Parts: sequence; C-alpha cells; structure tokens
Amino acid sequence: MTAADVPKADMHVHLEGTITPTMVQKLAKRNNVSVPAGLIEDGVFAWDDDGTAAGNLKGFVQAYDDATSVMKCAEDYTDITYDYLKRSADEGCIYAEIFISADHGKMAGLTYPEMLAAITRGYEKAKQETGIEMRLISTCVRHYGPEAALRVAKITHDNPHPLVTGFGMAGDENAHTAADFKPAYDAAALPFRTAHAGEAAGPESVRDVRDVLNIRRFGHMVRAIDDPLLVEEQKKIGAVPEVCVSSNICLKAFKDYAAHPLRKFFDLGLKVVLGSDDPAFFGTSIGREYEIAQKHFGFSDDELKKITRNAVEEAFVDDATRARLLARLDQDVQPSQKHAPAARG
Ligand SMILES: [Zn+2]
Repeated sequence: MTAADVPKADMHVHLEGTITPTMVQKLAKRNNVSVPAGLIEDGVFAWDDDGTAAGNLKGFVQAYDDATSVMKCAEDYTDITYDYLKRSADEGCIYAEIFISADHGKMAGLTYPEMLAAITRGYEKAKQETGIEMRLISTCVRHYGPEAALRVAKITHDNPHPLVTGFGMAGDENAHTAADFKPAYDAAALPFRTAHAGEAAGPESVRDVRDVLNIRRFGHMVRAIDDPLLVEEQKKIGAVPEVCVSSNICLKAFKDYAAHPLRKFFDLGLKVVLGSDDPAFFGTSIGREYEIAQKHFGFSDDELKKITRNAVEEAFVDDATRARLLARLDQDVQPSQKHAPAARG
C-alpha cells in the first residue's frame, strides 16, 4: 500500500479554488469572454511570486478573481463541481466538504438557490459514477464585513438544503473582530460551524473564534504551534485543525515542509484532517496532500488512514452518512487496486 491506496477526505476546499486552467479556458469560450491576460502561462495559473507572504497573497487573490471571472452561468457551477469531485474520487477521495460562497455565485449572476441546484447536479453525476459523498459549507467572507456576512447567513437560513450542513468564514483573518460575526453564525443556525483562523493571523485569532463563535473545527489553525498553551487548550476541547500544507507553503505561512507543524500536531494528539484549499492555484489535489504527508512528514499508511478516520468522525454529516463513510473507509477498494493489471479482464 502507498498513500495512493488510502481512502481520503478533503476537509477544506473552496469550490471556486478548484477551477483548473483547462476549465477556465473551456468556460471562457462557452461564455464568450476572454481569459484575463497573464492568468495562464504554460498551462498553469501564473501568479507573481515575489518571495514575500504579502506579495504571494496579493498575486493569488488576483489570480483567483481573474479565474472565477469567467464563470457566468449555472452550467459552469455544475461542471466545476463534477470536475473536482471526479478527479478527487479517482485519487481515492470518499468524502469532500466544500466551502461555497453566495457572494461568488452572485458575481456569476446566480441566486443562492440557483447556485445550489447547479452544484447538486454536478455532485449527483459524480456520486453516481464514483460513490464520492459531499457536503457544503455556506461561507461568508470576513473582509467583506459583518453586514455582508449576515446577508449570506440569512440567505442560507431562508433556503435550507440537505447538502448545506455548515456555516463558515473565510477571507482576511485580520479584518474586523470575531464578535462582529456572531450575529451571522447565529442567523445561519446550522448544526455545524468552522472558521478560518491561525493562518495569516496568529494564535489569538484561534482563541477568538473559538471563544466568541464557539468554533471547534478550524480552517488551518497552524499558527497555534507558536503558543504551546493554546495547543494544550485545543487538545482538551478536541479541536480539529483543517490542515492544508501546499496552501501554507505557497502563501508562505511556513518557509518549507520542515518548518510546517503537521507532524507535530498529529503527534501531540490533535485531531488533524487534511484539505487542498484552492488546489488549482497551489498545484495540488487531495491525493497530492496525502502524498506530501507521507513523503515529507513520514506518515505511514495507517496514520494517513487515521487522518481520514478523524475526518469522517468530524464530518458535517448525519449519523447514517457517517456510518456509511466509516464502513467505506474500512472496506474500500481503491482506484489503483481496481486498475491493477491483475484485475483487468
Ligand atoms: Zn481556505
């Protein structure tokens, strides 16, 4: 067995962040718009790497906005969802939990229910073909401000959907205070919640969302490593860090794999899960994140499987789905085995 054979879960991924350069070109053509100049070079997204965290973040945000600017209709959401889920399932992913943004849907000209219907169509096709399961986290953007967040929360609350099981917050962790977003989390009134913290901002941002917004699952949380007391507190409450190594390296939260706390978190007993974040922009996929964990952090197959077990145990799903996923985790025949020469008829 290798990392490729381990059943996987992608626990931190933004739908628009999965749009590949090939898909950008396809949608631009279909929607009769041009691909923004300089966005794609040699088949990959080119964003300025000036070697600083701020410069990289700026380049990334610009590329993200440019790439998503070609999305114009419901069919685009269906295609992006299917494309991401199919590729992930082919790498052994059994479950994906995706951040969706009503704000981005609106930019593509879709209402929230239209966006959800389109995503659901893509999911149903992928699920039928591969068995992959998916849930959605309706997500507000912190730097758009508390009022915009409350709008997203109200839309989410007023349009309940069986696949939307959580509310989340992405964007600039330094914008506003956590307390400013309490009304949004309360208004969404969903059973599960997560928030980005401890990536661009330090340990205090983790405490902030934990204590004010009652968060137990954290987008990133990696900078908690700077504060041993915080790590202990987080362990005590069973905190779940959604760790996205490639994202952290690309955006210079850590200078290299050796400096990254993934292994330390796991060894300290934190309930680590993995995510691809914005895979198309960071040249990654959930399969690659598991591979990196094995190759650069020394995770055995059993330890990787434990990470997937953590994910299923902490997934924003009902008990029946959780039981089904746990059963799959223990029995799944992975794609590389299915396609092994001996299995060919
Ligand atoms: Zn993220």
